[in-house]
Amino acid sequence: MKPLFEQIVFDLDDTLLDTSGTLVPIAVRRACLAMIDVGLPMTIDSALLRRTELLRLNPRIDTWTELAQAAPEPIRARIAKAGSDAFYRYNVDELPASAFRPQEGALELLHFASQRSKLHLVSAGDEQTQRKKIERLAIEKFFASIHLVAPGPGNKHRAFAEIDRKFRTSPEERFVSIGNRVDTDLGEAKTLGWSTIWIRAGEHVSLQPLTSQEIPDFEAGSPMVLLRLWEQQFPTTVKDPNV
Ligand SMILES: [Mg+2]
Repeated sequence: MKPLFEQIVFDLDDTLLDTSGTLVPIAVRRACLAMIDVGLPMTIDSALLRRTELLRLNPRIDTWTELAQAAPEPIRARIAKAGSDAFYRYNVDELPASAFRPQEGALELLHFASQRSKLHLVSAGDEQTQRKKIERLAIEKFFASIHLVAPGPGNKHRAFAEIDRKFRTSPEERFVSIGNRVDTDLGEAKTLGWSTIWIRAGEHVSLQPLTSQEIPDFEAGSPMVLLRLWEQQFPTTVKDPNV
């Protein structure tokens, strides 16, 4: 069977898991409340509005650091940290099952791709929280390797490089990174010579490529769109191992 790519690397949040529609609004509110708690001089409503506005103006900024600018200088760093900590780390077990909604077609895409290629997951965030999300989606079985890294520039690149080093069996093997952020998911994979696919969804949907490396080779509005395309390109029927 002709593989799509020999190795496919997926992002988690807003690529496979619909975080913007479910988990992000809850996490943003919790983060803003945590910041107000340690001295951010804003009401919860004005903090939420301000964050939306900041992201609209520049989707690349660290919103917690920017929001903290409203506070006196000596306590800004502490306020920003309270927001970031509360945003990335929380008790997944307290959230209802409805908060863990896969992106449209995500599970079907994983099923289809895992029969043809080796899959990997690279996700940035709080390690414990991300692990719980993976558990709740029950997707661990699809991946040959899972890499949980801290948020921030360069961390995904290091994970991509490690996957390339560990799993590449020949120079001809094709790797592709699939994600919703052109900077970390795509740009940081392109520098290794990989292909890139932009799932144009979620909170960073307005984040546009700034460098040639951030320009996707292909873009799709959802995993379902990508699945439909791949089904046409690679229509081979998969042999059922039980038959
Ligand atoms: Mg993402």
